[in-house]
Amino acid sequence: MQTKIVLDETEIPRRWYNIMADMPKPPAPVLHPGTKKPVTPDDLKPIFPMGLIEQEVSTKRWIDIPEEVLKIYALWRPSPLFRAHRLEAYLKTPARIYYKNESFSPPGSHKPNTAVAQAYYNKKEGIKRLATETGAGQWGSALAMAGRFMGIDVTVYMVRVSYDQKPYRRILMETWGANVHASPTELTNAGKKVLAEDPSSPGSLGIAISEAVEDAVSHADTNYALGSVLNHVLIHQSIIGLEAKEQLKKVNDYPDVVIASCGGGSNFGGIAFPFLMDKFAGKAVRALAVEPASCPTLTKGPYTYDFGDEAGLTPLVKMYTLGHNFVPPGIHAGGLRYHGDSPLVSQFYNEGIIEAVAYNQLPVFEAAMVFARTEGLIPAPESAHAILGAINEAKQATEEGKERVILFNLSGHGHFDLSAYDSFLRGKLQDYEYPEAEIKKSLKDLPVV
Ligand SMILES: *Cc1c(COP(=O)(O)O)cnc(C)c1O
Repeated sequence: MQTKIVLDETEIPRRWYNIMADMPKPPAPVLHPGTKKPVTPDDLKPIFPMGLIEQEVSTKRWIDIPEEVLKIYALWRPSPLFRAHRLEAYLKTPARIYYKNESFSPPGSHKPNTAVAQAYYNKKEGIKRLATETGAGQWGSALAMAGRFMGIDVTVYMVRVSYDQKPYRRILMETWGANVHASPTELTNAGKKVLAEDPSSPGSLGIAISEAVEDAVSHADTNYALGSVLNHVLIHQSIIGLEAKEQLKKVNDYPDVVIASCGGGSNFGGIAFPFLMDKFAGKAVRALAVEPASCPTLTKGPYTYDFGDEAGLTPLVKMYTLGHNFVPPGIHAGGLRYHGDSPLVSQFYNEGIIEAVAYNQLPVFEAAMVFARTEGLIPAPESAHAILGAINEAKQATEEGKERVILFNLSGHGHFDLSAYDSFLRGKLQDYEYPEAEIKKSLKDLPVV
């Protein structure tokens, strides 16, 4: 009855998995925002290094992880897989619950798995500075650390509402040496335009992305980095699922269902795609993406072409979207507030290969409390969405009197989200209604393709 299933450092996977090699249908093309024709690598060169552009469109199943990246991964990888014995006992369930614990990385989430890789490929191609956006600050802090390791400057446009609510993540970023601005700023045209219309704008990921992309396009030595959504990000995150498979093998187990929270889709793709590889080969395994009811991209949005950012600077990608102008309520799971979703995750959802569910904030925090009080670890509010998904699956197994093997991704710890726990403990946390009118309005601005 093991609790922690650990791999030796020599067992870190040396290759990432690229699901584009195994998809039943090829990925929908990415379109140029002006011509509406499929983008070429040259279109992406002003903001991304060739090393990442190649991965974005690659159909190679396995991609070697560079030695320099592996050495940095060794600071926190392989991450342990836990069997949630105490949670199982509390739930009195016949289900076996496992969680992959990505909270051990220095910034405390799965995000450095791709941040380090992205900083590496940019450094290799002579880039001196990376511009990026961050919501709750997990991505900004991961890139700040990665940039420091690779000797690249990092400029972060941090969504205003999080900048004000979560000062500790700004301090993390600054400790690793990044420059942090509250977005919208007066530093970019995109930011100025939003502030002219609404000087007290709380900001959104879409706006912050516009600012970071504009910054990258207008400086030759600067590239842009995105923490989720894109194919190359999901490739880097596959290390989570690849390790989990090896760990489950050590205890002779295999999941019936793999669960992760879904913002832009990177931690979900990261843990689930290596298992979908088996599903495509005939194995029975389900994958469940969990999103917040206040930003229900997969479960309520249309599947269509949209911009990745508010100002319409990015290419058009086919995804589930609530509209690039959508500004979701300021929920505490800030990392799940993106208006769209990974095109790969979206396509699998559209094809019925994966499942999705949306939960309200209060039951999510109740699940976080159960987890903290049984397993000890205080989860990120984002990760608590996956925990509630796992608890519900376990309860279903109990009702059916069936064994069920549940694997979920504990994408990060909540040590910098304690103000959210404080609100919950004091009864001040509220559920937000699904913002139907707002979404209807923003969907009117979808681009015509
Ligand atoms: C960013 C983040 C998420 C959501 O982002 P994805 O790209 O959907 O993975 C989930 N959990 C944590 C802890 C995060 O930092």
